[in-house]
Amino acid sequence: MLIDYHMHLEQGDFSPSWLRRFLDTALSRGVQEIAITEHAYRFRQAAGLLPAWWEQRTGPAQDLEEYVNLITTAQREGWPVKLGIEIDYVPGREDDIARRLVEPYPWDVVLGSVHWLGDWPFDVDPASWQGRDVDSAYGQYFATLARMATSGLFDVISHPDVIKVFGFRSRQPLAPLFRPVLEAAQARHMAVEISSAGWRKRVGEVYPAPELLDLVQALHLPVTLASDAHRPQDVAADFGRLCEYAWTHGIRQVTVFSRRSPSQRPLGPESTAEAGAAG
Ligand SMILES: [Zn+2]
Repeated sequence: MLIDYHMHLEQGDFSPSWLRRFLDTALSRGVQEIAITEHAYRFRQAAGLLPAWWEQRTGPAQDLEEYVNLITTAQREGWPVKLGIEIDYVPGREDDIARRLVEPYPWDVVLGSVHWLGDWPFDVDPASWQGRDVDSAYGQYFATLARMATSGLFDVISHPDVIKVFGFRSRQPLAPLFRPVLEAAQARHMAVEISSAGWRKRVGEVYPAPELLDLVQALHLPVTLASDAHRPQDVAADFGRLCEYAWTHGIRQVTVFSRRSPSQRPLGPESTAEAGAAG
């Protein structure tokens, strides 16, 4: 089975026709099930979680109810679409995240992301890296990710090494930084996302990097597959290559979620062939 468990409708509206374009692209590329995972910060229910300047920049706040209605209506009509949300983990705001964003809605899957180190959104502008200590940025990133995994709020660790997005590389080995993240994730029955989005970014490398995926495999953590598409044409982007990457690292199953309950599906060699054929 092929899944794409990370994508965003945010460049369009919450209409069935816009959603259908994402689903149709997925189906045409051999993907049987998708999860829509809007960014929580776009919704009024997340107000105050991230700095005010960011909320102004991301435009007028939307309503989570409208989004949830769109997806649950599609589900009732039999569309193979999961209701997801991608939440920025903000250390110290666990209770707010739980009470305002996680608990009130019938999520199938909740993605946890770290895009902010303190008040610095490290993946927005490469110029913001000027004068920063890259090693300590990596250290802080993985420490925050470990805290996120420990929080127990999330089902999936999104783009686990997104700190590399602009190609600034730490000199230290990353596996020792990543291991505590995975051990915390393991204790919470979380999955780790394998994402083709990194190939579309300046770094030009899949998330997570091979040595980190080896560690995921060594610890037997479940995985999801993701494109992080923000446009229909990026749904299941590079999935032939992504499946091959997973397969050559020994991965034989992908995780699907219903109402936050995970189960495993075989990632057969036929899946990679399908995705490869579809490009
Ligand atoms: Zn995303």
